[in-house]
Amino acid sequence: MHFYTKNVHFPNKENAHEVSKTKPIYQTSAFSFTDFDDMENYFDGDKAYLYTRMGNPNSDDLGKGVAELEGAEMGVASAAGLSAILAGVLAVAKTGDHILATQDLYGGTWSMFSNDLKDFGIEVSFIDMEDRGAIESAIKENTVMLYSESITNPLLRVEDIEGLAKIASANKLYLMIDNTFATPYLIRPHEVGADIVAHSATKYIGGHSDVTAGVVSGSKELMTKAKGKVSMLGSNIGPFDAWLSVRGLKTLSVRMAKQCENAEALAKALNSQPGIAKVYYPKAASQTGNGAVVTIELEEDVDIMEFSKNLGWIKVVPTLAGLETSVTYPVATSHRPLPEETREKLGVTKQMIRISVGIEDERDIIDTFSEALVRTKAPSL
Ligand SMILES: *Cc1c(COP(=O)(O)O)cnc(C)c1O
Repeated sequence: MHFYTKNVHFPNKENAHEVSKTKPIYQTSAFSFTDFDDMENYFDGDKAYLYTRMGNPNSDDLGKGVAELEGAEMGVASAAGLSAILAGVLAVAKTGDHILATQDLYGGTWSMFSNDLKDFGIEVSFIDMEDRGAIESAIKENTVMLYSESITNPLLRVEDIEGLAKIASANKLYLMIDNTFATPYLIRPHEVGADIVAHSATKYIGGHSDVTAGVVSGSKELMTKAKGKVSMLGSNIGPFDAWLSVRGLKTLSVRMAKQCENAEALAKALNSQPGIAKVYYPKAASQTGNGAVVTIELEEDVDIMEFSKNLGWIKVVPTLAGLETSVTYPVATSHRPLPEETREKLGVTKQMIRISVGIEDERDIIDTFSEALVRTKAPSL
């Protein structure tokens, strides 16, 4: 099956239901058995479900659906992107271990790695992942993992996953990639050597801004460990949230196709707009598109607060990946946890706006940004 077909036809016929075309929501905390003998069937492996924290048909569907598109043996769903990332990390790292992570991480991951993993006794060093020499010389005896993101935020750097996979395998390290911004529609990190792939399904996988969810994928061996972490840390996803995420996932291909097309057109149009100092948009990120996020840096003389008031129907939202175009202010949201000097070093500035491009007509999106620029530069018009 090709990507678009696979995208709609999981869950497959094996777990199709006789009456209901879509999978019902198993809104239950536990499963029942006819008698004690029957309950033994769970422990013998003949029955799949016992207690929802340890597994539920809806959360399994989400894990399976993403794993199938990513080309992984197994996927595990969890209550948020961050818990999926934590489960992936804890599948390979324990107290005393060291992780090398890219310095331009999503702010929440950066906080978890700098503070919470440290409290667990796992040390993380942040480095420039484009500097191969820096990676090689930062690898220590106790390093177990390289960690990066397929497309970074908000500067939209496209990671050389294949290159990192070579370094990882030469040094017997695991490679973990956060594929939230690209999704498997654009980039499939497992196919070029990543061992673990994590998603904030809150973003494009769910796609409708109505759920907080995460998925981690990889080999059966690693994901069995990750699933154990999700269930023992109690970060399992609720059945309804899993169901909503699966419903969103089925339209990933068509949403991404349209959103990437709109983003491409917007990036091109904004490139020649007066008032804009720089447009960040990936080139050749993949064969299917370059992503649905565009980051712009306004000229110093354009009042960014005023600009945000002139955007009409485009809402200010501190996240991305919804059906509707929205904007955010990275220094105040995703990158708020980072110290100012780190933000400056990365090039995340106070004149920067991250645009999450939606599925509207591209002409309306482009016109709204152009008009907002004109109005902000010359308020009397
Ligand atoms: C949002 C996001 C996360 C965190 O996901 P949550 O669902 O909010 O826990 C992690 N990585 C990236 C790249 C994100 O955009």
